Amino acid sequence: MEQIIGNINGIDFTLGDTILELSYLIAALFFVVGLKLLSHPESARRGNFFAGGGMVLAMFTTLILHKDAGGNSIQMTNVWIILSALTIGSVIGWIVARRIKMTAMPQLVSLFNATGGAASALVALLEFPNADMNNLGSVLVTVLGLFIGAVAFSGSMIAYGKLDGKVKDLFSGVMKYVNLLLLVAAIAISVFIMISGQTPEQLNWAIYLLLGVSLLYGIMFVMPIGGADMPVVISLLNSFTGIAAAMAGFIYGNQAMILGGILVGAAGTILTLIMCKAMNRSLLNVIIGSFGANSASGPGAEGGIMKEISLSDASILLSYSKSVVIVPGYGLAVAQAQHVCHELEEILSTKGVNVRFAIHPVAGRMPGHMNVLLAEADVPYNQLVEMENINPDMPNTDVVLVIGANDVVNPAAINDQGSPIAGMPIINAHLAKNVIVMKRGRGKGYAGIENELFFGEKTRMLFGNAKDSLQNLVNEIKSL
Ligand code: NDP
Repeated sequence: MEQIIGNINGIDFTLGDTILELSYLIAALFFVVGLKLLSHPESARRGNFFAGGGMVLAMFTTLILHKDAGGNSIQMTNVWIILSALTIGSVIGWIVARRIKMTAMPQLVSLFNATGGAASALVALLEFPNADMNNLGSVLVTVLGLFIGAVAFSGSMIAYGKLDGKVKDLFSGVMKYVNLLLLVAAIAISVFIMISGQTPEQLNWAIYLLLGVSLLYGIMFVMPIGGADMPVVISLLNSFTGIAAAMAGFIYGNQAMILGGILVGAAGTILTLIMCKAMNRSLLNVIIGSFGANSASGPGAEGGIMKEISLSDASILLSYSKSVVIVPGYGLAVAQAQHVCHELEEILSTKGVNVRFAIHPVAGRMPGHMNVLLAEADVPYNQLVEMENINPDMPNTDVVLVIGANDVVNPAAINDQGSPIAGMPIINAHLAKNVIVMKRGRGKGYAGIENELFFGEKTRMLFGNAKDSLQNLVNEIKSL
C-alpha cells in the first residue's frame, strides 16, 4: 500500500495520485498552448506536437498511476490490452495519414472525428451498467455521452461519404419533422432512463434504443445538408465529439479527458458560430437539420455562352493591371497549384501589380483550407484578405483571377432565393472590371449549380487544369 501524503476534503492522497493529477494539469497546459499555436499556419505543426504530447503524457501516467476506488492499479492484462490497442490504432492512423492525398484530407478529418464520437459513445454504453441510478448527474453524463457521441459518429460518417462524393444529398420536406421527432424521442428516452427508478439491467433495452435513435438522428440530420452548408455541420460535429469526450471524462472522473473534451468542444462551438455568421445561417436550423437543402433548388441559371481568353491576352491583361485579386477555391487544392500560384503572384508583384488573395471562409473542403494551402506555398500571410475586407475593393479591382473556385463567387447566392446557397455571402468577383476564371471545363461546384458569373459580360474563361494553366501563364508573362 502506498504511503498517504495528504488529505483534501476527506480524500486521502498518495504520491502517485499527486503525480497523476499534476500530469493532468501539465497535459491541460499542453492542450491550451497547442490550441493557441494551431491558430496560425506557421506554428500549427508545433501546436499539433504540443497537444499530442499532452495527450500521450495523460495516457501513460493514467496507465501507470491510476487506481480504482479500492486503491488497486490497472491489472497487467488490461495494461497489455490497452497498449496493444494503442499500438494498432496508432499504426493504422499513421499509415492512413501518411498515404492520404492532400485533397482527401477533409474526408480523413471527418473519419477521425467519427472515431472520436464512437469511442465516447462506447464508453457510455459500456459504463451504463455501473452507473449509480440514484445519482442523476452520473446518469445524465452517461446518457448525454451516448447520445452526442453516437450522433457525432453517424453524422461524421455521412459527412465523410459526402465529402468523398460517395453519398448524395437526400432531401424531402418531411425530413425536418422526422428530425424533430427523433430529437424529441431521444430526449424522452433519456428522461425516462433518468427518472424511471429502474436498475441499469432493467433499462438495457432503453439504452440500446437511445443508441439506435441517436445513430439514426446523426444520419438524418446530415443527409439533407447540401449546398454551402456542409462546413457549418462539419464544425458542429467536431464540437459534438469534444463534448461527448468531456462526458466520457465525467463518467470516469478523469480530469484530462474532461479538459481535453471541453477544449475541443469549445473550439468546435466557436468555429460553428463563426461559420454560421459567415454563412448567414442560424444554429437552430443546423441542429434541426435539412436547412441547407431546398426543394426549390434547381440547377441554377443554365446556358449562355462562356467566352474564352487566350493565354497571351490573359498575361497582358494581368501584367498591365494595377490591382489583381486572386480567388482560390477547391480546384486549386485539387490541382495542387499553390506553389505556381505563388510564383505568378511574385512575378506580377515585381511588375508593380498589387496582388492580393481573397479568402472565403468556406472555400475548399475544410475550414481554413485555403489559408493552409497558401501557407504551404509560403504566400505571405498579409497578402491573404478576408472576404468582408476585400469586397469593398472589388469595383476598383482591374482583374479578379478565379482559380478553381465556383460556389464562393456564385452571384446566385444573392440573386436566387431558391438556390441552395441563397443567403451565403460571396466574394463579389462579378463587381470587378475584368474576371478571368481558371477551371477545367463546365464542371459545377460542391453545391451542384450553374454559376452565372461564368457567362457574365466581363468574364473570360481560361480552361485547363489549374496547375498547367498557371504554369503556362507564368511562362507567358516571363516572355513578355
Ligand atoms: P467549388 O467546389 O464550388 O468549385 C470548385 C471548382 O474547381 C469546380 O467548379 C471545378 O470545375 C474546379 N476544379 C476542380 N478541379 C480543378 C483543377 N484541377 N483545375 C482547375 N479547376 C478545377 O469550390 P469553392 O472553393 O468555390 O467552394 C467550396 C464549396 O465546398 C462550397 O460550396 C462549400 O460550402 C463546400 N464545402 C466547404 C467545406 C469547408 O469547410 N470549406 C466543407 C464542405 C463543403 P471543373 O470541374 O470544370 O474544373
